[in-house]
Amino acid sequence: MAQIILIVEDEVEIARFIRQLLEKEGFACLHSHDGNDALRQVQTHQPQLVILDWMLPDIDGLEVCTRIRKAAGTYDPYILMLTAKGEDFDRVIGLSTGADDYLVKPFSPIELVARVRALLRRSLRQEAQGQVYRTAHFTVDLDRHMATQQVHGRVQELELTTIEFDLLATFLSHPGRAWSRAYLVEKLWGNDFFGEERVVDTHVARLRKKIELDPKQPQFIKTVVGMGYKFEDED
Ligand code: CA
Repeated sequence: MAQIILIVEDEVEIARFIRQLLEKEGFACLHSHDGNDALRQVQTHQPQLVILDWMLPDIDGLEVCTRIRKAAGTYDPYILMLTAKGEDFDRVIGLSTGADDYLVKPFSPIELVARVRALLRRSLRQEAQGQVYRTAHFTVDLDRHMATQQVHGRVQELELTTIEFDLLATFLSHPGRAWSRAYLVEKLWGNDFFGEERVVDTHVARLRKKIELDPKQPQFIKTVVGMGYKFEDED
């Protein structure tokens, strides 16, 4: 059965571009021009993934996202937000809008396909088996899909995108191990990934922003020159 993706985008050219790209990848696509129509189509067709533009003519993407999450019962789609405001969205996503990931316009076709595949692969994946990873400051609970960090002795829940969560879980599974970019790409996106290995750097940078006191002088996620990354968390 083909996986259904709903594209919510009022700009016809961009919508067409995304649609052609994803149909070439074998996904079945639907399209909405505005938020109200998107909410109707989500109800009717129950797509696995909603690609949701922030700026829409009626209700904005964030509101649509919130309403989809509120209405969700056993059916709960993945949501990939499109935005021209990367910086702002970082903050907003911290307030838990319920989006799983986001892309800043303009994005490359490779980037879009990679994100879509990562999210949909996740939806096919069996739920993890009660696994919890712990280090001195971090906990990742795969079952509950929850990550926490101790900051000044207080436990705080981290608001992470799907990929950031997977990345942190991978790091915590083997603290101190050096990971190559190629290995991380395969782990996070699967071995049919055909894009740039450097895509990992973008997600590491975002994760650092959320967990490091000073992302430029990271305490936890260290760069391993010429190779990739290493996670360290000592007492
Ligand atoms: Ca728009």
